[in-house]
Amino acid sequence: MTNQQVVRIPPAIIVGDLAELLGVTAIDIIKELMKNGVMATITQTIDFDTAAVVAADLGFAPEEFEVAKAAADLAEASDEEAAPRSLRIVEEGEGLTLRPPVVTVLGHVDHGKTTLLDRIRKANVAGGEAGGITQHIGAYQAKGPDGRIMTFIDTPGHEAFSQMRARGAMVTDVAIIVVAADDGIMQQTREAIAHVKAARVPMVIAINKMDASNANPDRVLQQLTEVGLVPESYGGDQVVVQISALTGDNVDELLENVQLVAELQDLRANADQDAVGVVLEAKTDRHRGIVTTALVQTGTLRSGDTILAGTAYGRVKAMSDAAGERITEAGPSTPVEILGLNEVPPAGERFVVRKDEKEARAEATIRQRAIDAGQETRAGVTLDSLFGEIHKGNVTDFNLILKTDVQGSIEPLVQSLEDQSVDEVNVRVIHASVGSVTESDVQLAVAAKAVVVAFNVPAEPGARRLSDQEKIEIRDYRIIYDIIEDVQKAVKGLLEPIYNEVQDATVEVRQIFRVSRRNAIAGSYVREGTVTRGARCRVMRNGAVIHEGIIESLKRLNEDARDVNAGLECGIMISNFDGFEEGDQIITHHMEQVR
Ligand code: GDP
Repeated sequence: MTNQQVVRIPPAIIVGDLAELLGVTAIDIIKELMKNGVMATITQTIDFDTAAVVAADLGFAPEEFEVAKAAADLAEASDEEAAPRSLRIVEEGEGLTLRPPVVTVLGHVDHGKTTLLDRIRKANVAGGEAGGITQHIGAYQAKGPDGRIMTFIDTPGHEAFSQMRARGAMVTDVAIIVVAADDGIMQQTREAIAHVKAARVPMVIAINKMDASNANPDRVLQQLTEVGLVPESYGGDQVVVQISALTGDNVDELLENVQLVAELQDLRANADQDAVGVVLEAKTDRHRGIVTTALVQTGTLRSGDTILAGTAYGRVKAMSDAAGERITEAGPSTPVEILGLNEVPPAGERFVVRKDEKEARAEATIRQRAIDAGQETRAGVTLDSLFGEIHKGNVTDFNLILKTDVQGSIEPLVQSLEDQSVDEVNVRVIHASVGSVTESDVQLAVAAKAVVVAFNVPAEPGARRLSDQEKIEIRDYRIIYDIIEDVQKAVKGLLEPIYNEVQDATVEVRQIFRVSRRNAIAGSYVREGTVTRGARCRVMRNGAVIHEGIIESLKRLNEDARDVNAGLECGIMISNFDGFEEGDQIITHHMEQVR
């Protein structure tokens, strides 16, 4: 590149956003990072120095600029885990105006999420009361008590929240966690809090059902403290509001607090540019064709614009707001219903504006081809000897099934793995998805004669059984580089002996006993297999590995035990780890040489 285009990069930026900023693909960025020894996924945040090296390598002249202080504080206050943010972090400079906060409601089932969303919608809906007709388009806008607009995502629960996040499209600015005062913090409340924390989204706790006769808000406050959210009334900084979604009591106060929390983030966007946003939901309607609900995150979407979302594209033929009114323009944080796409895009897919349909179609075709290539399966390989066959030169297709912990890892991994193909050996990822290895993955591996690569995810017991039975290899990895290195070696026929991980026990953590400042015993229940003292183990939470270590101490009825069988309770201590939470899983395992 000859012209040294100046790019202004914030102190921290998500890989995907950097790609967008530089106008290259995320794969390009990830490859540059790899060259510099940095392994990152599309959703990971990198610092300015790292981003600057990549930008410079790609021919840009990087310049640092300060993001809004609030955004930086927020990033600092968060845990280490890199998390996708909405686009606002890269938006700094001229032409920025305040935009409404986007609010998501999460919490345990039956704690009143839907009732709250309905209450807010009915009492405060923006854009007129339209004779009581409100359509459900997945999001709506309502006025806060001071008259300012707020955007609510109308699909409560963390499935939607995490689905978005998994795709690298974080839309939520503030999360409301609803906890019923008569029920307290439950499993899904904990999960919701974990998801929101991991995504570094600030939250407001709504203790709901205060009208119920058995409401016990003090217990909820206490439980919040136990999960690390210390309420303001206890001297902490967690905003908590006691409401009744049913009677509407204090709901205005809740909204005021949500606005305050949003204000601290100084949410701004540049309305004066092409729109970028996220698909919230989409469906086919018999009369209207493909109906897509999307949230404009930044810029302004106009009727007649051509948009591209994944492999779906088309001209925006008609657009309406959440109140069902026809509109021709939608600015930042506005949910819209769009007609005109050629196929149904998946929820969470990011949309962008393209110059015309020709350009959008070309890009969609390339994406489609990549998908088709991945799904085409070919047999002809004896699985248990795949690496050996490659060594002997009998194999040309090396099929892999890839399972990862986050959506963002998939694209770069597939690309990097397939890049390992050489003339004689074709490396193909025939299926890639997020989540633990399931029986159906193994079935696919049997059918396609493939090896299953599990990146930071466990295999379900059923999948393990089937893989043993069918002699399908499930290879576990934690580090991208290791996968690539192994595949490279396999392709070159240089692979070291293969060790397969054998799982010995699945244990559920039910209660935590703190024995000293740095030690905790996990009161546990052995669900499957036998736990053995000294065994290697990993601690899993919400499907992700949070610690790897060794079973340091194993007790049964307060006596030291060498092993404990399925169906029994036991006390477990793990080396260098005391951060157990109720509901964690401990998996013990050992390695066995299979070739
Ligand atoms: P969701 O599963 O979290 O969406 O919960 P819903 O909004 O469907 O509410 C579950 C049940 O709790 C329904 O029967 C509601 O009427 C009831 N409910 C919701 N909010 C309140 C409240 O503030 N007080 C009382 N007493 N009941 C409520």
